[in-house]
Amino acid sequence: MKFKFSQRSMARIETVDDKVQALCHLALDRSPIDFAIVQGRRTQDEQMRLYGKGRTAAECMKAGVPTAYAKPKEQKVTWTLKSNHLSGRAVDFAPIVDGKIFMPDRPTAADIAIYKQVADAFKSAAAELGITIQWGGDWTRTKDFPHIEMEA
Ligand SMILES: [Zn+2]
Repeated sequence: MKFKFSQRSMARIETVDDKVQALCHLALDRSPIDFAIVQGRRTQDEQMRLYGKGRTAAECMKAGVPTAYAKPKEQKVTWTLKSNHLSGRAVDFAPIVDGKIFMPDRPTAADIAIYKQVADAFKSAAAELGITIQWGGDWTRTKDFPHIEMEA
């Protein structure tokens, strides 16, 4: 095996659905680029805190999110309160490039090509396991390059 998950990645993987766990391990084996798992299952409270990023107190209140979580000056990181991260069907990955976690704020075409190599490894692993996944980089509304989710 060329790559091995860190303890931190493993702790996150252990929070998700068994099939998604198997997917992560097989994807790492198939990937030409090392990667970390930076997000696994979220609690509803964690999701509400993330929802507050890039939103005003009024927007939070409208969505039923505590207004204290509003952080209008920060970059928006999620578009929903019903994320598949809540059900343990989603993970976020980060490529590891030159020994460092790769998380560009605004990915360039070259950055996206790096994400795609890992996403392709997830896709071939999913095909081998007989499960259907979506990569956030394929979404047309808002792209979410680190995001992988298993369809219900
Ligand atoms: Zn995600």
